[in-house]
Amino acid sequence: MEAPSIVLAPRRKTRQIAVGPVLVGGGAPISVQSMTITKTADVDGTLAEIYALAGAGADIVRCTCNHEDAAEGLARIVPRSPVPIVADVHNNWRMGLAALEAGVHCLRLNPGNIRNPDHIRTIASQAKDRGVPIRIGVNAGSLDSRLYDKHGGATPEAMVESAQMELAYFEEVGFEDVKISVKASNVALMIEAYRQLADVTDHPLHLGVTEAGPPPAGLVKATAGIATLLAEGIGDTIRYSLTAPPVEEARAGRQLLEALGLRQRRSVDLIACPSCGRAEIDVIKVAEEAMAAFGDRQIPLQVAVMGCVVNGPGEARDADLGIAAGRRKGHLFVRGRNVAVVPEDEMVGALVEWADLIMAEGVEGALSRADAGAEAEAEADRLALLEAKGDDVNHSEERVELIRKTAGSG
Ligand code: SF4
Repeated sequence: MEAPSIVLAPRRKTRQIAVGPVLVGGGAPISVQSMTITKTADVDGTLAEIYALAGAGADIVRCTCNHEDAAEGLARIVPRSPVPIVADVHNNWRMGLAALEAGVHCLRLNPGNIRNPDHIRTIASQAKDRGVPIRIGVNAGSLDSRLYDKHGGATPEAMVESAQMELAYFEEVGFEDVKISVKASNVALMIEAYRQLADVTDHPLHLGVTEAGPPPAGLVKATAGIATLLAEGIGDTIRYSLTAPPVEEARAGRQLLEALGLRQRRSVDLIACPSCGRAEIDVIKVAEEAMAAFGDRQIPLQVAVMGCVVNGPGEARDADLGIAAGRRKGHLFVRGRNVAVVPEDEMVGALVEWADLIMAEGVEGALSRADAGAEAEAEADRLALLEAKGDDVNHSEERVELIRKTAGSG
C-alpha cells in the first residue's frame, strides 16, 4: 500500500502567469526549467538540446538572445519546440524587442544589466501588448551598482529592492505579468533573499542557486537552496544551474520535485542499499547499470537494488519491484514477494523486463506470473547465506561468560 503523502508546508499563495501553455504560480504544479548551451543561431542543434531537456523533465527551456542571429534562431525554434521558450536578454535591450518579435513565450531581464528606465518600460509595454510574461531575474553577482553601494554589498535587502524597482517600472506601463528570481551562488544569501521577497510580493517566484558549479557539490548547493525554500512553501518554478550537460539540470529538478512529493513520479525512483559486508554483488555497479538501463523512460515505479537476499526483500518491501543478490543469482521481488530467480549477469535486464510487465499489466498482473519456486529458492539461499556468513566473529558466547563472571563478582 502506498504511504500517505505528506504535505511539507502550504504553498505560498501567488498570482498565476502563463509561460505558453505552462502555468506558473497560483497553485499550478511547480515547473522545471533549464537552459540550452548551444548557440541559439544553431537552430537544429538548439532544438536537439531542447528535445533532450524536455525528455529529461524540463517543462520550460531558456535560450540566450544575445545577438540578432540568436533572435532569428528563436523565430525558427519557437514553432518547433516541444516546450515553451524563454529568451534570456542580456545588456542589449533591443534583443528584448527582437525576442518578442521572434514569438518567445517569456523574457528574462536582469535589472543589473538593462538600467535605462525608458528601455525597461518599452520592453514591458511591448510584452504587455503581446501577452508575454517577463521574469525579473536579479542576480547577486550582477546587482545594480547603485544598490550595491547603498546596501554595502549584495545583501538580501539589496536584491529585493532591485526586483521591486524593476517591478515599479513595469507597473508604470500597467504590466504585471511577472515572475521573479533573486539568485545568488551563496546558498544562505539566496534563501534569505527569497524569504524576504516572498514577504513583499505575491508574484510567482523562480528559484535557483546561480553558478552552483559541477556535481556533486553543485547539486548539493542547488538542492540545499531550492529544497529549503520549497519545504517552506516558497517557489513556483525551479532551475538547477549546474556546470554539467543541461539534461543533468532538468533531471535534478524533476527528481527534487518528485522526492519532495511536489510532482507526480514520472520516471523510475531507484533505491539501493548502501551495501555492506553481506553484499553478494557490487551494488554500486549494478545500481548504476540499472539507472542507465532505465534512463529517462517514463516508468513511474520505485525499483530497488539490494546487495543480499538476506535482508534486501524485507528492507525494500514497499518498492514496486526489486532485485536482491544471493549465491550468484538475482532474486526478483514485486512488492516484497519473490517472483523469479535469474542468473546474476541478467539482473538488470530482468529488472527492466519486469518493470515493463508491471507497466503493461499492473502489479497484480505481474504477481500472477510469479515463478512457483521463486519463494522457496529465495528462502533456501537466504538460509544458506545466513549459515555461510553467520560465523560468530564476535565470539559472543565467550563474551557472555565474561560478562556473567564480571557482573556476578560484584
Ligand atoms: S541489503 Fe544486504 S548487502 Fe545491502 S546493506 Fe542490507 S544487509 Fe547489506
